[in-house]
Amino acid sequence: MASAAMADASSQVLIVGAGFSGTMVAANLARLNVTSRLVEAAPVAGPGRAYGTADPDHLLNVPAAGMSAWPGDPDAFQRYWHEHGDGSAPFAPRRLYGEYLRGILAEACASGRVRVAGGQAVSAAKAAGEWQVQVDGGHVLSARHLVLATGNEPSAAPGWAAELGDRFVADPWSRQAGAALAQLAGRRDDVLIIGTGLTMIDLALSLQAAGFAGRTIAVSRRGLLPRPHDAFAPAPVALADLPAGDLMALWRWIRHRSGTTGWRAAVDCLRPHTQTLWQALDDTAKRRFLRHARPHWDVRRHRIAPAVAGRLAEAIRAGRLEVQAGRIVDARREDRMVAVRIHRRGEAAAVEWRRYSRIFNCTGPLGSIRDTRDPLLSDLLGSGTIAADNLGIAISVDACARVRGHDDLWAVGPLSRGEFWEMTAVPDIRVQAAAVAERIASQLALG
Ligand SMILES: Cc1cc2nc3c(=O)[nH]c(=O)nc-3n(C[C@H](O)[C@H](O)[C@H](O)COP(=O)(O)OP(=O)(O)OC[C@H]3O[C@@H](n4cnc5c(N)ncnc54)[C@H](O)[C@@H]3O)c2cc1C
Repeated sequence: MASAAMADASSQVLIVGAGFSGTMVAANLARLNVTSRLVEAAPVAGPGRAYGTADPDHLLNVPAAGMSAWPGDPDAFQRYWHEHGDGSAPFAPRRLYGEYLRGILAEACASGRVRVAGGQAVSAAKAAGEWQVQVDGGHVLSARHLVLATGNEPSAAPGWAAELGDRFVADPWSRQAGAALAQLAGRRDDVLIIGTGLTMIDLALSLQAAGFAGRTIAVSRRGLLPRPHDAFAPAPVALADLPAGDLMALWRWIRHRSGTTGWRAAVDCLRPHTQTLWQALDDTAKRRFLRHARPHWDVRRHRIAPAVAGRLAEAIRAGRLEVQAGRIVDARREDRMVAVRIHRRGEAAAVEWRRYSRIFNCTGPLGSIRDTRDPLLSDLLGSGTIAADNLGIAISVDACARVRGHDDLWAVGPLSRGEFWEMTAVPDIRVQAAAVAERIASQLALG
């Protein structure tokens, strides 16, 4: 690690990343009388990437009743939603959820046990029993425990994008994306979005809100759109009644169950067991799931608010949004536009070139941790302090979210999803954040 420019008064725990995961580890630690320091690269700590949006059209994908940040107080967000908004609507704006998280963080800071340091953590190493984290600008922070909570990174840009300059927007949450949206106001060109999942939907809504008057074409290998939430009668199942450890049998079980209870009940009854079912599969089966079943699973498991689904359907009917199954074969810049060739799924020949004024990369989270562009994760991978899990998707951790090989280094939230799979949404992360905080507190108490 580069030499320390300035040492920091030590907190007991350092947490890198103040999105939902890091914020809730800090807030839980504060309740346990443990001091922590959150390091956050974004200007605002608390909301993270998911809840930092200012767009009122971006709604939570999980009903407000399931979004409490505290596992021991499941109605906490529902109450907040009633006090601060239209609590009768099941899906709150994500912006409001960001405010809720900022409130939790403010309360934790007011306790004097949480502090926030602005800046990007760029490297970390252990010296004399303490983790030392270097923040850009040369500031060095140190603590007994280090928690990595840097969340999902946007996926890497495809190779052909290098030639496209500012016509290609690699990160839909970046300032560049905001500027592109502003420039598209009132324009009638075509815009291409790579990806047809939740991020694409956000962007399509933002384009509409920005007054974009052209057509949006969204393309992904299978062209699958997230399905909407709807009412259904829950049909719980016991773990013992599931074919754990056999992916094909499990898939057949879901199909059969969908026929009897409806697919929403069939998918949701697996929620309490998903981590166990994932851990019971061998690596070959997990890879097969990721390659073949995941797109179909994701669109059913991560559903959208009915109001959002209605707006999408309306945009498709009106011809403002077109969803394609296909693969981009080539793209080249032509003056202010980009000409793109897409090979449509199921068609022998590639379709003709089409011209777009912008391409947005909405292909979802980075698939391989080894491709990370986060300087801290690169540094830790390079030094062998952390390693990729067997699937290569996230960090190798044990069942307690402890980075393998360490008793004082932790990875929470999506960074641990190789071990748990379902560790990307609030209902799972809140439980993990509380459990990690408790383990750290008991380890510190033991000295
Ligand atoms: C658009 C979107 C909508 C979603 N909607 C829902 C929903 O409705 N319900 C639900 O349950 N889940 C939803 N999710 C899932 C969401 O990922 C989780 O709920 C949760 O927010 C993940 O939080 P996180 O803190 O792990 O990651 P993030 O929110 O990504 O936070 C990580 C933070 O770490 C910071 N960071 C990264 N690297 C560094 C570094 N080196 N130094 C300093 N800081 C760093 C980043 O700036 C960021 O603020 C959504 C996700 C997205 C992307």
